[in-house]
Amino acid sequence: MTKSIIVIGGGIVGVCTALELQLSGNSVTLVDRKKPGRETSYGNAGVLAESSVMIINNPSLLKALPKYILNNKNDLRYDFFFVIRNFFKILRFLSYCTHKHLDHAGRALRSLLLISLTKHKDWIKTSKTTHLLKEDSGWLKLFRSKKTFKKYQLELELMKKNDVKFTIFEKEQIRQIEPGLSQRYEKAVLMDDAGRISDPAALTDAYVKVFLDAGGKVLEESVTALNEVNPGWEVNTNNSTLKGDHVVVAAGGWSSEIASWLGYKIPLFWERGYHLHLKPSDAPSLNRTILDVDGGFIMAPMKQGVRVTSGVELTWRDAVPNYSQIMESVKRARQVYKMGDQIEDTPWMGRRPTLIDSLPIISSAPRHPGLWFNFGHQHLGLSLAPGSAALISAFINKTKVPIDPNPYSATRFKI
Ligand SMILES: Cc1cc2nc3c(=O)[nH]c(=O)nc-3n(C[C@H](O)[C@H](O)[C@H](O)COP(=O)(O)OP(=O)(O)OC[C@H]3O[C@@H](n4cnc5c(N)ncnc54)[C@H](O)[C@@H]3O)c2cc1C
Repeated sequence: MTKSIIVIGGGIVGVCTALELQLSGNSVTLVDRKKPGRETSYGNAGVLAESSVMIINNPSLLKALPKYILNNKNDLRYDFFFVIRNFFKILRFLSYCTHKHLDHAGRALRSLLLISLTKHKDWIKTSKTTHLLKEDSGWLKLFRSKKTFKKYQLELELMKKNDVKFTIFEKEQIRQIEPGLSQRYEKAVLMDDAGRISDPAALTDAYVKVFLDAGGKVLEESVTALNEVNPGWEVNTNNSTLKGDHVVVAAGGWSSEIASWLGYKIPLFWERGYHLHLKPSDAPSLNRTILDVDGGFIMAPMKQGVRVTSGVELTWRDAVPNYSQIMESVKRARQVYKMGDQIEDTPWMGRRPTLIDSLPIISSAPRHPGLWFNFGHQHLGLSLAPGSAALISAFINKTKVPIDPNPYSATRFKI
């Protein structure tokens, strides 16, 4: 039977959810206050990872904490008052820095990443965007020192346990696969099977088009309230009142606020990140996205130019942007790769939505039948969106769930 479903949030997670639900025979309205795909999903580094099984709150973070005290590292900056105000939430986040949780999270992420990549590849064909996908070059993590590479062993072990394919490159070999890079790097690890998207916003637009062609509706309105009306749900926006049998909250970093309207206390953070595009130079083009582990930045060859992205800024979701981290990232990127002028005057900023155990919530809302949660995809939302959509669709359509859904259940927290 066709169900009417409202999806709140048109980032890549909401768009994929709406698309999967519409294609499986439902009548779906996707609501975003902006054109879909213009918040965090707009500006990411474009990696379609199947290898990213490591989470930030892993056992080595505890050992590394003293180095962050001066708040001058490029991979992580924080607002001191935010940390004080959220001290207990941060302690809960750190309580997951165990080998047991790391193994659990690694397995859970890997299974979701694998089904997601397969579905992305299908939808990329359906949406006629094969030109946006590069799938033969993997993505590369680079180490400026052997000492840093040694600390990376935990991640290598975890990748091995999860059958991730990777290749280690020595200093001389790095120049062969990336001739444009300086000789600053001692070691590199290539995640062989990862893909990349050269324009994440264009991919979202293309998925939205498939959704609209299949009969879905998009509303550019801001959701202001959610009410259970038995049967079903009423969603109020700044402009209309919508009625649906089901509602999916997929609003990224805004999801905890929306869920709080119904009394849920979701332990979600915002790991803010920035990007800036630089014009290519006469240096050989980058063949793949690279992460400079010591430098704390990513460089991604994109349609707009070379996209340099920053590490994590821990602060309030809507705090005024602080561009020092991205400008430092650009400075460090220029040390290793020759690039032209900066393209935009002002860097872009996005909010990675992260739960305290670094796994997303993809499940029913514990106290409200017909309400579903799909958010908290941290650094991996582009990669994980189609698989997350497949889970929500299986729950609502009561079909076979493709992977074990328990790691993503909302009931793992007392919310
Ligand atoms: C610098 C950076 C690099 C990254 N690189 C990668 C990468 O290489 N690979 C990868 O897989 N992931 C990457 N990520 C992570 C990825 O971008 C995110 O996990 C993902 O975009 C989250 O998608 P989302 O749909 O949950 O949230 P969003 O894209 O933020 O979408 C949420 C939507 O909800 C809407 N919304 C909120 N409140 C309301 C309301 N009240 N009414 C209506 N609409 C509302 C917003 O307008 C927004 O469009 C990166 C992130 C950053 C910041």
